[in-house]
Amino acid sequence: MVNPILARSIFGLQERWLGRSTLRYAKELEWSQWESPDAIRELQRRKLRALLNHAANYTFFYRKRFQIAGFDVVADDPFDVLRSLPTLTKSEIRGSIDAMQWHDAPGGLFPHNTGGSTGEPLTFCVDRRRQAYDQAARIRTHRWFGVDIGERELYLWGSPIERDRTDRLKSFRDRLCNQKLLDAFQMSPARMDAYWNAYERFRPRCVFGYPSSIALFVRHAISQNHKHRSNALKAVFVTGEVCYPHDRKLMEEFFNVLVADCYGSRDGGFIAHECPDKKMHITAENAIVEILNGNEPQPIGTEGEIVLTHLDAFGMPFIRYRTGDTGRLLSGRCSCGRGLPLMDVVQGRVTDLLRLPDGTFKHALSVIYPIRELSGVDQFRVTQSRDYNIAIDIVRNSQGLELTHARILQRVRPVFGNGLDIKINWVNSIESTASGKYCYVVSEAANNEDGGSTVGR
Ligand SMILES: [Zn+2]
Repeated sequence: MVNPILARSIFGLQERWLGRSTLRYAKELEWSQWESPDAIRELQRRKLRALLNHAANYTFFYRKRFQIAGFDVVADDPFDVLRSLPTLTKSEIRGSIDAMQWHDAPGGLFPHNTGGSTGEPLTFCVDRRRQAYDQAARIRTHRWFGVDIGERELYLWGSPIERDRTDRLKSFRDRLCNQKLLDAFQMSPARMDAYWNAYERFRPRCVFGYPSSIALFVRHAISQNHKHRSNALKAVFVTGEVCYPHDRKLMEEFFNVLVADCYGSRDGGFIAHECPDKKMHITAENAIVEILNGNEPQPIGTEGEIVLTHLDAFGMPFIRYRTGDTGRLLSGRCSCGRGLPLMDVVQGRVTDLLRLPDGTFKHALSVIYPIRELSGVDQFRVTQSRDYNIAIDIVRNSQGLELTHARILQRVRPVFGNGLDIKINWVNSIESTASGKYCYVVSEAANNEDGGSTVGR
């Protein structure tokens, strides 16, 4: 553990070294959140105009798009320009990734993979400015709960980057910044015991992670008669999937702090976060949220698809990006006094935890990541039956015709070990669920009574 003031300075130096003005942006956001809704709208207008100009001047893709639409991005009201532009789909991004980029972005461009919430893999790039603004937005929302930069943060998380961190420098840097990572992809009863000990020793100010993983950890702690005694904890931050009310209640009662939900993604950015008054505020300085039904804008209060424009994604602009997520804008102001507009995310991602016969829970992402990193996969669905065996349906595109069962097994076998049967099926399409989501990890074994000491979900 490092003194928080020192950890904060180390964080600042790291951001500067990476060429990110994160702390300056965090200061800006600290002020702007208290501005009136009109002033925030004006700020959006200025930033949107700059983004549209930039996209027209520096990316082939948007120059063409604006020309076809016949806009003068300097003269017209940027909100009018925005509303008249076609929306941006994942398949368009896949086909135009190079033409969408600003190759001279200061500090370079960094590729990312994501499955979004529809299970369709997507590769895109982010620049330093976007990274810094997303990071600054996160810092601001943590401050809402009294958790500042440099204070101890416990992550129950797993992503390809974090999971592969054999890189000792990275984990050393985390330690210096008072961040501790526990692997959410490996949740056996024995490991959860070790996690509890780590939690008690570390005494974090906040816990951050997938709600399903934190709830699983809490259920295990309760089953072992562990009592939560730390008064250091200020909040539990959850993200990445839907937070069920029963899981929220469980976590709030156990930790005796608020659970705050965050809506965002690697592709969309840091979009919205709950405040201590339990309203979800849009990071309106960084993003414009539209709600569409097809191409029709929906009035405040009506559900539709969340369509995003990231105001700081200059390296690879995301303008009217269709997320596939469902939400609605809300009217009125929050009692917390912030001028940031409100929204609701009606339906988050739908995934199940997977379970091994020895009782270990695997987060859905632990199998999603290795599959979506394969090129040539358009969509997929992983189904685990009650006997723990796995079936994977895969829709291939033209680049995926050379994919073999062996190649896929090579990627997913390490996730499940050798004991399970894994079947791979090539399919032409995958039906979405009634809610319109591709429920791409489904497990009937997650609630099996045998095998483990705790029952998930
Ligand atoms: Zn509020």
